[in-house]
Amino acid sequence: MSYEKCVGCGSCVKLCPMFDAMGEEQFSPRGKLYFLQVMDLLEGDEELGKEFRRLLFQCTLCGRCEETCSSGVNLLEIWHKQRAAAVEKAPEEFAYLDSLRNALANVRNIYGLAMEDRAIYWLDELVDEIPELEERVYEKGKTAETMVFLGCVMSFRGSQIDVLRSLFRTLERLKVDYLVLGAEEFCCGHPLYLMGDDKGADELRKHNKTVIQDAEAKNVVTCCPGCLIQLKQYHDLEGVEALHHTEFLDRNLEEIPKFNQTEPFAYHDPCELHRILGVTKEPRSLMEKMNVDYKEMELSCCGGGGLLRMTDPSLSEIVIQLRTAREGVKNSTVLTACPSCREQLMSVDLKTKDIVELVDGALGGEE
Ligand code: SF4
Ligand code: SF4
Repeated sequence: MSYEKCVGCGSCVKLCPMFDAMGEEQFSPRGKLYFLQVMDLLEGDEELGKEFRRLLFQCTLCGRCEETCSSGVNLLEIWHKQRAAAVEKAPEEFAYLDSLRNALANVRNIYGLAMEDRAIYWLDELVDEIPELEERVYEKGKTAETMVFLGCVMSFRGSQIDVLRSLFRTLERLKVDYLVLGAEEFCCGHPLYLMGDDKGADELRKHNKTVIQDAEAKNVVTCCPGCLIQLKQYHDLEGVEALHHTEFLDRNLEEIPKFNQTEPFAYHDPCELHRILGVTKEPRSLMEKMNVDYKEMELSCCGGGGLLRMTDPSLSEIVIQLRTAREGVKNSTVLTACPSCREQLMSVDLKTKDIVELVDGALGGEE
């Protein structure tokens, strides 16, 4: 087991948002690794096993532990494999995830809504302003250079409509040849992957791969870092480049007019975008091009990752409350580039915007 590389230095402990929130070693990466070693020694101890399985899902999978560890412990891989083993060993302890699993199996989205609804809400909301959208929804036989993969949160949540408006307006303004997967999109598989169910995730990925390839796309663009992890690393999209919208926009916008800033901004960098995917320059490059003045928030988790909002909502809330209080951003608009981070920021009444909203504003908005 790769945990043997752990020298117990504790560098990962203080940086872990779970330890920060709970103040107990068992919630920290080092504590969990210690648990794992003890479990290997005391194989069959039911109480210990149950406690460990609970702790595994009290983690946002933010990756800060792995980034910090100078001994090269592959912590994210350990958490992933252990989550899979935990769910397999004691499915009854994870019955609360059944509704999510059933929704994904039956209607291929996390909300349990009808599949065709993926291209109804936002289309109804935006088509009067952006009439071109009517033709942008993918149907068999249509092709485009760029496929837009919205993901479940952006397809269904009304809270994301401003981001979608800005995204589509910007793509139209840039004359991008694009289609939106719409009702043909399945969940990217990330929620199943986060619970260690690679086989279930693969079923969803296969369908998306077929649609993207049928559309003869050269690239697929998404605003959601979780979807991007799946599209980039697990969809096996030969010849199709998967890009975050900030990467796509930064590449296609050499210069952007100055953004007319009237409020203080802070930037919350999404963990999955920064640490897992390494997309760090593009969001900042876009802000620099628009001459945006912003405060960099500490590179720390919002508390919304790793399914924590489902597995332990009160812990998730403590994390975002602590982060907000520590950073002193109550009177700022928190910029970010992830729909799930936005949901988490909004849950504590913070004003938040995606970077594409600024790009859209700088380019002239609805004019
Ligand atoms: S992934 Fe993040 S939350 Fe999970 S143990 Fe590592 S630092 Fe803590
Ligand atoms: S930083 Fe690495 S070596 Fe140090 S305690 Fe954490 S996992 Fe172990």
